Amino acid sequence: MTDRYAVIGNPIAQSKSPLLHAAFARQCGHDLRYDAILAAPDAFRETVLDFIAAGGRGMNVTAPFKLEAAGLADTLTERARAAGAVNTLKFGPEGILGDNTDGVGLVGDIQDRLGVSLAGRRVLVIGAGGAARGILLPLLRARPADVLVVNRTADRARDLADAMAPWGRIQGGPLSAAGGREYDVVIHATSAGLNAGEAPAVDYRVATGGLAYDLAYGGDTPFMRQARDRGASRVVDGLGMLVGQAAESYRVWRGVLPDVRPVLERLRPA
Ligand code: NDP
Repeated sequence: MTDRYAVIGNPIAQSKSPLLHAAFARQCGHDLRYDAILAAPDAFRETVLDFIAAGGRGMNVTAPFKLEAAGLADTLTERARAAGAVNTLKFGPEGILGDNTDGVGLVGDIQDRLGVSLAGRRVLVIGAGGAARGILLPLLRARPADVLVVNRTADRARDLADAMAPWGRIQGGPLSAAGGREYDVVIHATSAGLNAGEAPAVDYRVATGGLAYDLAYGGDTPFMRQARDRGASRVVDGLGMLVGQAAESYRVWRGVLPDVRPVLERLRPA
């Protein structure tokens, strides 16, 4: 029988996950079906349970259900527990496993594809929402010199940094805490700047040879333009992370890590 997977969210029409997983399945020679499922805001749990009853093997979870997915899982991986959010569910005889592959997607994109080692680097993370929560454990595991998380709501950044402190040198504060200093890697993880808005007004400089990484994707973003003004010579969007997190989900489900490069090349506009 064909194995069934799906992405669940609301809205869901914009999701690239069906396209990515179809490409991975072709690459790996696997026979599977991957759907996009729209769930009403109050119907996440029953929609997942219906999918399991219909023989579903795994799901990707996107906004606004990542926190609820963490509550639904019987077991959480360490990275999902640290994030408090789940983007990957795996269904098996042992129950529902919840995982979070966002951070591995980001760190893999920075270190493996872009060839930028995070070890010993000064890292600034702008934003303390769901995406920031998902990336911090794999980021700290890459052993940067230190990580500063700044956020419009300063307490969210402080609480997040406190929660992650067992894994490395990390501090949190208001947007102003960036203090005009120089960072080797600046990661933008807010939703500001989507829909033609502005990037948050954060005072930073990007060190010579440093990297500015926007989790958002789909063209030249306001943050990418801002980062160039602040000295960044290398500026990228989050498409590589998107493909990387999907590949890691595929590995969690099927034990094979697909090659992200050909899929990313096909996705990126010429
Ligand atoms: P959340 O809604 O969980 O968090 C939003 C964050 O943005 C918060 O830190 C919030 O600050 C901040 N923010 C929102 N508006 C403003 C503003 N006007 N000025 C300053 N800060 C603001 O969103 P996510 O964390 O889920 O997503 C963040 C981004 O990451 C999105 O662009 C999303 O598309 C992208 N993403 C990309 C992925 C990829 O694979 N490339 C994966 C996941 C996400 P506050 O706490 O003060 O409200």
